[in-house]
Amino acid sequence: MNYSARKKNKIVKYIVIHYTGMKTLKSAYQKLSDKSSNVSAHYLISRKGIIFNLLCPKYKAWHAGKSKWKNNININDYSIGIELENKGHDYGYTNYSKKQYSSLKNLIYFLKINFFILNKNIIFHSDIAPNRKEDPGERFFIKKIGINRFNNKKTKKIYTIDEMLKLYGFHMSYIENHKRFCIMAVKRSLNYAVINSSQSKKFVKDFYNLIFS
Ligand SMILES: [Zn+2]
Repeated sequence: MNYSARKKNKIVKYIVIHYTGMKTLKSAYQKLSDKSSNVSAHYLISRKGIIFNLLCPKYKAWHAGKSKWKNNININDYSIGIELENKGHDYGYTNYSKKQYSSLKNLIYFLKINFFILNKNIIFHSDIAPNRKEDPGERFFIKKIGINRFNNKKTKKIYTIDEMLKLYGFHMSYIENHKRFCIMAVKRSLNYAVINSSQSKKFVKDFYNLIFS
């Protein structure tokens, strides 16, 4: 099992949601607990809704990799990682099961209370590494666990795409260097069936409604 000590000045404030992206639960479990894999996570939730607590959240797990969100870099330092069993885009991406949503909802409720985590800080791997990661992906519906990540007040101001990407939470370096991947990450968040980087009028409207809801 890979883990590190948390630094005293870096407190847990995010929950990062992932999918395992592996063919079986067993292979995912083994990889996440194998020291030579260079990855780990705090929790794994199977399709049957079983929650495996792989690492105590007081330690740092290695789930996020190179990552940035808002003004933070290396999100492992600030987060708890939850892996959802799903074959992922490479091996047959499926809908998440009802039992998975139900267990995830309970787990997040528990973590929110214990670590004072805000809804806006429940984030996706594809948000914090948009140029590298696609998980949990467009088939993950955060509303099914009763979370609304955004509660900006609607205004009459017209926002540019860059301003909306910043409000969504992307780190400035991603907006500047990987904008098309940021747009694709937002489309996953919007549960679009087709993920591309086009900025249609419908997308701009949907994006506005997502962050000003
Ligand atoms: Zn991931």
